[in-house]
Amino acid sequence: MLVRKIETIVVESHHTKSFYFKGGFHADPGQFVMVWIPGVDEIPMGLSTIGENMGITVHRVGEATEKMHALKEGEKIGIRGPYGKGFDILGRKLLVVAGGTGIASLMPAVETAVEQGRDVQVAIGALTKDELLFAERVRKAGAKIEIATDDGSEGFEGFVSNLAEELLSNENYDQILTCGPEAMMKKVIEHGMNHKIRTQVSLERFMRCGIGVCGSCAFDGLRICRDGPVFDGEEVYGKGDFDTYRRDPSGKRIPLLPDV
Ligand SMILES: Cc1cc2nc3c(=O)[nH]c(=O)nc-3n(C[C@H](O)[C@H](O)[C@H](O)COP(=O)(O)OP(=O)(O)OC[C@H]3O[C@@H](n4cnc5c(N)ncnc54)[C@H](O)[C@@H]3O)c2cc1C
Repeated sequence: MLVRKIETIVVESHHTKSFYFKGGFHADPGQFVMVWIPGVDEIPMGLSTIGENMGITVHRVGEATEKMHALKEGEKIGIRGPYGKGFDILGRKLLVVAGGTGIASLMPAVETAVEQGRDVQVAIGALTKDELLFAERVRKAGAKIEIATDDGSEGFEGFVSNLAEELLSNENYDQILTCGPEAMMKKVIEHGMNHKIRTQVSLERFMRCGIGVCGSCAFDGLRICRDGPVFDGEEVYGKGDFDTYRRDPSGKRIPLLPDV
């Protein structure tokens, strides 16, 4: 495990902060790290920034993320990884569909794809405009952006999956990358199938080892940590666990909460 000092903390919204630390390792867009919060827990986090300085973007939902939010610049965290299979960035024209904190895991793919000369359209969705993440960073990267908010406080009023459907009806894309609530990703996969476009999805489940040994993140015969977290949409679509169940720390299957 690497011990890293938190160099910078950026408050992104009322429940989300980004933490930047010196990397010293290579990571691919879509990979994740196990973050050890001293005295608390180790939790999986997608890398929201990849490079000399690495970043993670943490939505406060429970005990570990609450403790992470309480950390100050200069304090230390442990980093294990990077782990898992990231996004295959292929094709000339990409549609990136992000729901909520999902944009965090997608951001390095957006930046890499633009740097590689690809045409990138991003659709970001959030409950309200105050919860939108990284809109400015997407613009700065040189990607096109469309915004959807559930309450209509900015951009398209409604689900980002509906906005994605509109974009897919108006333009031809070679690939779709998506991360967010599974109900949203399920719709995006369906739109991709209708337009015969490959969709890659990034999934989240409770994790313990992060390296495929413990089985905590088992998902219908797949291990999210080792076989994913990025999968081909068609590989997970229709699986019994997709958009239906997660596992608690004891391994018990429980209905997936719609808002995480
Ligand atoms: C590969 C991967 C990448 C991730 N990337 C990010 C990221 O970039 N930013 C971010 O904020 N979070 C990310 N997460 C989710 C993050 O790991 C969890 O939110 C965190 O572990 C919750 O810990 P906690 O102790 O604060 O909350 P807990 O007390 O453990 O949980 C709070 C609530 O969230 C539910 N929950 C916790 N984890 C998950 C999960 N993985 N899926 C569904 N429900 C869950 C719990 O059941 C509970 O209802 C990622 C998870 C994975 C597997």
